[in-house]
Amino acid sequence: MKSFFKLFIVIILFISVFHHPKQADAAGKVICIDPGHQKVGINKLEPIAPGSKSMKPKVSSGTAGIVTKKPEYVLVLEVSKKLQSELKKRGYKVYMTRTTHNVSLSNVDRAKYCNSKKPDLTIRVHADGSTNKNVSGIHVLYPSATYTKSINSKSKKAAEIVINELIKTTKAKKFNGKGLSPRTDLTGFNWSKHPVILPEIGFMSNKIEDKKLSTKAYQQKIAVGIANGVDKYYKNGKK
Ligand SMILES: [Zn+2]
Repeated sequence: MKSFFKLFIVIILFISVFHHPKQADAAGKVICIDPGHQKVGINKLEPIAPGSKSMKPKVSSGTAGIVTKKPEYVLVLEVSKKLQSELKKRGYKVYMTRTTHNVSLSNVDRAKYCNSKKPDLTIRVHADGSTNKNVSGIHVLYPSATYTKSINSKSKKAAEIVINELIKTTKAKKFNGKGLSPRTDLTGFNWSKHPVILPEIGFMSNKIEDKKLSTKAYQQKIAVGIANGVDKYYKNGKK
């Protein structure tokens, strides 16, 4: 019996020594990924925050690629799946609001789903569109409303770290100079009870960026950039 116990200790020591250091930070951390939009948008309205009289469509249909013609909901699920595997590989527990396009999930539904998982961080993946075809770059949105007072500062911190890591891996431009956009009007933020960020991974209305966004290599750079940011967010949080 004793030798079994010794063997057990040796195995535990072995695992702890050779365990990937990144996984030690990720252990037990829960990430909820919300790939934006879906095949068919829902125009019916829902309140933008609990108790608010201000209403917005339950889920919009999103943008589409100017060259690729790819809908945003397809692109962001491709990237979200890469992010899911990247985070799982690093030891995070990952939940997804959707893994197919044929779903009917409003932004409130998505926030409530993530709330039920008590995530350390929710990542809502979206892509941008602009009437100005020259605009390009990445920015990360974070909540800044009074509804979200309790999660604003942690979300902002995560957004600041994630945008910098995203720029390192993608070499993209920071949209609006800072690459950060505080928001008070997003339903998906206002219903969140846990820190949440929304990376707008690039402009599908920009020819060059649209094409780049659909390549596997660039999508992987986005996934790794966000995952590096998540790792760093926890390391900073530990100090
Ligand atoms: Zn979107």
